Amino acid sequence: MNWKDDFKPEVKRIIEEVEKQIQPRLSEIDDQVTFNQRKVLEAFQKERISEENLNGATGYGYNDMGRDALDRVYADVFKTEDALVRPQFVSGTHTISSAYFGMLRPGDKLLYLTGMPYDTIQEVIGVTGKAGMGSLKDFKIDFDYVPLLENGKVDFKAAKTKLTDQVKVVAIQRSRGYSSRSSFTVDEIKVMVDHVREILPNAIIFVDNCYGEFSEIVEPTEVGVDVMVGSLIKNAGGGIAHTGGYVVGKQKLIEMIANRLTNVGAGKEEGATLENLRRMYQGFFMAPEVTGAAIKGAIFESAILEKCNLQVDPKWNDPRTDLIQTINFGEPDSMIRFAKQVQKNSPIDSYVDPEPSQMAGYEDKVIMAAGTFVQGASVEFSADGPIRPPYTLYLQGGLTYSHVKIAITKAVEETFFN
Ligand SMILES: *Cc1c(COP(=O)(O)O)cnc(C)c1O
Repeated sequence: MNWKDDFKPEVKRIIEEVEKQIQPRLSEIDDQVTFNQRKVLEAFQKERISEENLNGATGYGYNDMGRDALDRVYADVFKTEDALVRPQFVSGTHTISSAYFGMLRPGDKLLYLTGMPYDTIQEVIGVTGKAGMGSLKDFKIDFDYVPLLENGKVDFKAAKTKLTDQVKVVAIQRSRGYSSRSSFTVDEIKVMVDHVREILPNAIIFVDNCYGEFSEIVEPTEVGVDVMVGSLIKNAGGGIAHTGGYVVGKQKLIEMIANRLTNVGAGKEEGATLENLRRMYQGFFMAPEVTGAAIKGAIFESAILEKCNLQVDPKWNDPRTDLIQTINFGEPDSMIRFAKQVQKNSPIDSYVDPEPSQMAGYEDKVIMAAGTFVQGASVEFSADGPIRPPYTLYLQGGLTYSHVKIAITKAVEETFFN
């Protein structure tokens, strides 16, 4: 017996071709997972993590040994001076927002090197949303961005004129988010860092690392980035953490950001971890493997949908630096049918039928398929996209490679072979 037996013969044949085709890439990902697993394991050993560290504190959270040790584990893995890993960060956006408010003062400027940032960050900055609600703009913190070149790369020539003395923080968004550009690899981030350092040696270089952790064997903090943040319901939480975010980087910056998250005077010393620590530790331990599973799933998706004559990005054999796979369906009907199959083949809410609907902040209707254990956790297998040309579905995550394979195979059969 074989899991493919009850698929249509044409589908079975395609799967077998794809499996053979991508095998060498999968094997490279396995090596990457082991490399990253070793980094994490050795950090746990170095910090002598014990059973006692897993039980979180209550109340103010003074002397929360487990919390402080987890900060050190993150700092070891990301090779930074310090870290702030907290369940009190409610989302990736909140983590990024806390970092900006922690580091920037009235009159300072935030400059994005990688084009307009992720939608929710625009509201934090005050590019979108109502005035007077507490955005950076309300606090007289300026913002500008360097539009990307036609080919989706950084425009270093334009950047030169925008890297003025007023710029305090230079931000780099690693992952594409909901844009059509490619994500930036750590090698590309290094080029950006070197460029900025030449012009503004004292600027703070910040990376939004959402979706990026463990998708390569080096992290942006290893190529000169000062401060970096991510979400625990994406890669770094390994599908196990229930909530939270992290910041890693220079000690002084971490202190300023901790003062923003809690209050000046409390900083890193307060914040009860309650029942969350065990999951945060276990999730971080599992993060390399889970990220690897999601990337293998993305490689499989890319290869099989390319065989169905769709436009995919990245291609199965392209280098990868995050979990996101985009598929252009070219027309709405198959895009919607495919997304519905993603939902139908989820462990949770498999009976729910997602419909394209209007969402705050989007001009077009959006379809969202996600049947996850943790609400909104995009490290778990999910699909979404606005219903507009070229009808791009963003596929991301997957706790196990097998789940992604089964779900995609069913979706391909239902969408293209029925
Ligand atoms: C997910 C993500 C964020 C933060 O999103 P939340 O939904 O607030 O956790 C920020 N930037 C990028 C590039 C992301 O992918």
